[in-house]
Amino acid sequence: MRKKIIIGNWKMNLNLSEAQDLAFKLKGEVNTKTLAEVAVCPSFVYLSAISNILKGSNIYLGAQNMSNQESGAFTGEISPLMLKDFNVKMVIIGHSERRQVFNETDEDINAKIKTALKHEFTPIFCCGEELKTREANKAEEFVKNQVLAGIKDLSKEQIEKLIVAYEPIWAIGTGKVCSGEDANKIIKMIRNVIKEKSSVDISERVRILYGGSVKSDNFNETIKYSDIDGGLVGGASLKADEFLKLVSLAGNAHEQSQSHPASV
Ligand code: PEP
Repeated sequence: MRKKIIIGNWKMNLNLSEAQDLAFKLKGEVNTKTLAEVAVCPSFVYLSAISNILKGSNIYLGAQNMSNQESGAFTGEISPLMLKDFNVKMVIIGHSERRQVFNETDEDINAKIKTALKHEFTPIFCCGEELKTREANKAEEFVKNQVLAGIKDLSKEQIEKLIVAYEPIWAIGTGKVCSGEDANKIIKMIRNVIKEKSSVDISERVRILYGGSVKSDNFNETIKYSDIDGGLVGGASLKADEFLKLVSLAGNAHEQSQSHPASV
């Protein structure tokens, strides 16, 4: 049974004391009884401080990006070896802001996923379409191609180590949420692509999340779908209370799926 996971992407938000405060609050509430897994991805410059706070907690530390190179003349980049020093376990790769604002290509993202796996990080591989693509009824085809490009030349064992996040770009930070039904449809399609490139068993083990304006007042509708394994959360991850509500909604959904498997 896949365990639900809620991942906070703090993006370029919070100053040091705000980030520390948030990490302390989450650490105080997330424990071995928490039914969903939890991860936070602070800015690179706060990884050291947040890593110290989260030591001994049940919260995973993630990074928001990573170079595909290990060292060298790459001004401004962060190497996977540097992330290792701070107990980072996960790395967001291919976020739409990296694709759109920093022109990262499918090839860059594929290279980063391979580097992340080489260094034993869990890649949180993001994919998702723009509004015009959805309106042209091409969302499935577009996301399928993004996924195929991202996992190109990965072995089955490597595919199994991914977390995939379906994040329709038109829903990120806009307040527009993709309906649970629509998100589930794309997520099922992604699971099918993974099945074709690995095996039924592996595709049933890979977690696929939804991201895009997730909030505590809309997440219940999303997380009830059995193929949706959690959320990648931007804005709502910056407030402890709100983020913890999402963690508890995911935990409830996990409990329900155990008592009524594949109900939706
Ligand atoms: C994100 O950037 O990954 C995201 C989902 O942002 P938001 O929750 O703010 O839409």
